Amino acid sequence: MNHSVSEILFAEAKTLMPGGVNSPVRAYGNVGATPPFIARAKGSHIFDVDGNEYIDYVGSWGPMLLGHAHDAVLAAVADTAKNGLSFGAPCGLESELAKLVMSLVPSVEMIRMVNSGTEATMSAIRAARGFTGRDKIVKFEGCYHGHSDSLLIKAGSGMLTTGKPSSKGVPADLAKYTLTLQYNDVAGVKELFDKIGDEIAGVIVEPVAGNMGVVPAKLEFLQALSEETKKHGALLIVDEVMTGFRVGIHCAQGLYGIKPDLTTFGKIIGGGMPVGAYGGRLDVMQQIAPLGGIYQAGTLSGNPVAMAAGLATMRELVAHPEYYERAEANTKKLLAGIADAAKSAGIPVATNQVGSMGCVFFTETPVQCFADVQKSDLDLFRRYFLGMLDRGIYLAPSQFEAVFVSAAHTDEDIDRTLEAAKSTFAIL
Ligand SMILES: *Cc1c(COP(=O)(O)O)cnc(C)c1O
Repeated sequence: MNHSVSEILFAEAKTLMPGGVNSPVRAYGNVGATPPFIARAKGSHIFDVDGNEYIDYVGSWGPMLLGHAHDAVLAAVADTAKNGLSFGAPCGLESELAKLVMSLVPSVEMIRMVNSGTEATMSAIRAARGFTGRDKIVKFEGCYHGHSDSLLIKAGSGMLTTGKPSSKGVPADLAKYTLTLQYNDVAGVKELFDKIGDEIAGVIVEPVAGNMGVVPAKLEFLQALSEETKKHGALLIVDEVMTGFRVGIHCAQGLYGIKPDLTTFGKIIGGGMPVGAYGGRLDVMQQIAPLGGIYQAGTLSGNPVAMAAGLATMRELVAHPEYYERAEANTKKLLAGIADAAKSAGIPVATNQVGSMGCVFFTETPVQCFADVQKSDLDLFRRYFLGMLDRGIYLAPSQFEAVFVSAAHTDEDIDRTLEAAKSTFAIL
């Protein structure tokens, strides 16, 4: 496959932006290749500037559940844009999207729109700290909640006391307020809360971890988080930036039957435009400025064009429950087919799936936490990725990312992908 135009563009971009990109994973550093520069996308297919066509399983990292350039979403964006791109003043579309989200997710009694998932989680953390008057937060290894200081922290040596920055530029003094536990570790959660539960402002968790491949939470894990936070007056923040309206129309909290204090959204609620949101308990949200003393603001927040894209996307999803069934069934077929092809070639894999999120791990053992994910053979993944790309299959360029199937993927797309997997594994 020829990528000569992408190569020229990437060489130039590298002189202009760090690594040539505006978000690190796009640089293809893990797989040692030039990222295709994208010209356009429609439905389940994406086209690069060299004229190559791919079946897309990235979906802009999650938002494009309807597929790319969906007609209803494009029409809503075009109609709204005619009236102006931004006012920095209230507009009715904000309330329309707020009402729709709140009707689908009953734990959200009041909501605030922001511009990204990072902003949503950063603001939810501040809300938890401001509401409880406490500083410590708890997160889980392998979960990603955006790039704000308090959330770029990994476990230190002494689990209960010392978090360590996972990025330069994050003050070590701040790191000591973020405690990191192992995902799905119920005993670890109970032990921590027994010791210092009354110092904890909140726990933030991905209800299905989607940033270490795909790792579903055990029900008893989420229940323990719910019980322990309640018992100790801390807040449970469920980060549904990826899972929200992806794993089901009532999000992961609907699937698991849990009621968080705060929820963060992003990705799908913007339908491909930059939108995030956080919301939850009324008594907490009433502490946000201008009602209360927890400050948070945004010049472009609630932007009309972005609201229109999100609203049109969400309305399509509400109107077509079969989209979820189709995407989930296609994900199942895809993962089973890839696992079969790998097995026939003598390559051990484990697969995880929730709804239309899935992951093929190059490891034999079942994957339930970050330590399990780390057993994956990354070089095997890299060769698999490159083989698939060469055969027109556009996957995320990392073992630690999910495969996203959209409602626009067809049986033919899945069959072609499985053919590509067979011929890729044959030569790995
Ligand atoms: C993508 C993601 C974020 C960050 O959202 P951005 O829009 O990239 O800032 C936060 N949390 C989770 C679970 C995510 O998947």
